[in-house]
Amino acid sequence: MAKYVFGIDLGTTYSCISYVDETGRATVVNNAEGTNTTPSVVNFASPNQVVVGQVAKENAVIDPNNTISLVKTLMGKSDFAINYNGEDKSPEEVSAYILRKVAEDAGKQLDTEVKDVVITCPAYFGTAERTATKNAGIIAGLNVLEIISEPTAAALYYGCAKEQAEKTILVFDLGGGTFDVTIMSISSEKIEVVCSDGNHELGGKDWDEAVMRYLAEEFISETGFDGEFDEYAQQDMRLKAEKAKQQLSSREEVPVMLDAAGLRARISLSREKFDEITSTLLGEAIDKTDAAIAIAKEKGYNIDEILLVGGSTRMPQVTKALVDKYGMEPKILEPDEAVAKGASIHAVNVYVNNQKSLEPGDSGETTVTVGGTTKEINADDYKEELAVQPEMMSIGGKTQKVVVATTKSFAIEVLANNQPKCCNIIIKNQAMPDGSITVSKTFGTNEANQDNCELVVYESDFMEDYFDIDEDFVLGTATLELPGNLPAGAPIEITFTLNTEGILEVSGVDKTTNREVHATMQSKGIMAEEKVDELKEKSKRMVVM
Ligand code: AMP
Repeated sequence: MAKYVFGIDLGTTYSCISYVDETGRATVVNNAEGTNTTPSVVNFASPNQVVVGQVAKENAVIDPNNTISLVKTLMGKSDFAINYNGEDKSPEEVSAYILRKVAEDAGKQLDTEVKDVVITCPAYFGTAERTATKNAGIIAGLNVLEIISEPTAAALYYGCAKEQAEKTILVFDLGGGTFDVTIMSISSEKIEVVCSDGNHELGGKDWDEAVMRYLAEEFISETGFDGEFDEYAQQDMRLKAEKAKQQLSSREEVPVMLDAAGLRARISLSREKFDEITSTLLGEAIDKTDAAIAIAKEKGYNIDEILLVGGSTRMPQVTKALVDKYGMEPKILEPDEAVAKGASIHAVNVYVNNQKSLEPGDSGETTVTVGGTTKEINADDYKEELAVQPEMMSIGGKTQKVVVATTKSFAIEVLANNQPKCCNIIIKNQAMPDGSITVSKTFGTNEANQDNCELVVYESDFMEDYFDIDEDFVLGTATLELPGNLPAGAPIEITFTLNTEGILEVSGVDKTTNREVHATMQSKGIMAEEKVDELKEKSKRMVVM
């Protein structure tokens, strides 16, 4: 049986899975319902059965309390997504069911096991969100080769899709629940992220809500209804609002039939009205785009091309705004599929690179160094040869190297002029040529004879050297043990290493005795390994439909 590896776009509203076939072509695999994307909606149907996808989305109308959508917005931020049958479910567990649905459906279609995957996440996802995404994959029983940013995946697909000279592209990615703008320099050899920004609360769902508000007002004025819309009416309106929005991408006007509390109305919505009621939302995306372009300019990059990804870029208002503002006609790149396809191309590269890094005879847990990053892999996962080799899917036989940039700043709490401040060590948008970045800074101990020092690590979007302390940005804490006899101001070197997956490792050296002090990050948003294993076992007992 041919061995394939997969790319999964775990989207806020829709998910999609792709693989690279024997001819080197990235191909999306349809789900059991025959569609190329699967709604990221999970309905807990019974204690041992979960329904995922279109059926769950429809079930949301009749069973709203046991149905959850937009779970991606909770990843790494909360340990609670929904309570079912008296049990709290985490966002990782819920996302694992979405991953299982797309993976198991694809496995059936291709008559193979879907095991090795690259999963995508928005570029601005920080350590906790990326780790949560990876843990969702582990809970789903997958071997997560890597987590990569959605725009990087889209650019990888775009890069493989055609031959080209070096250019700077802006990826405008407006999905169902998130907005990402990423600027990258792209050539046949290399894809390098220049900078990225985004708003994880802005997406197609907000356009749906604007339509819902409009429909509700029109319904009230037409029928005289003066009650509250119950949950059923709201879910119904949500489905109809999204449908109307999508139809308005190809039509000038659409009718919407609404029923609530025994009343009925036919509401007409024009594209002009739709554009008017959603103009502030689009404005927010354009403002972020402006800010990213300004950062790229400072670094010496001018935009040659704008690339649209994400289902919501189908709205004509997006192209219109970009043309009006930047005088450039953006290119639409298979908005629903580009990210998953790029992820599958990356999966082939990662699998083959991991394979090459193994020593003959390696088996079980092994440490390998790939592109300057050391990682733990299970050698047994890489025994099989792939059905495709990277050279078959690249331009002129060359494989494109992906150079990512930091998507967050990482700081440590210090005393600056006797004031507690955060001092940035790694700054957002720094290039990571080897896939990772290591930065060290030396600080002095505050007092004489300290037994230890507490490192409080912050993750934020601030790009200044120092910024004010804000508890909201605490990533975690770590304790450095000290000999206990050091004078005040004794030098301590702090080293932050950010790996390819955006996960931070912290270490320190007491420079007086040269003793290495190891610090383990205890991030508040990150699930403990034992819990991940426990959920993985539990997930196996659940049937996903
Ligand atoms: P994604 O997360 O990239 O799959 O994007 C999903 C979002 O794209 C959802 O909010 C969809 O309603 C929206 N979408 C899909 N097709 C269209 C369309 N034809 N016009 C407008 N929005 C669309």
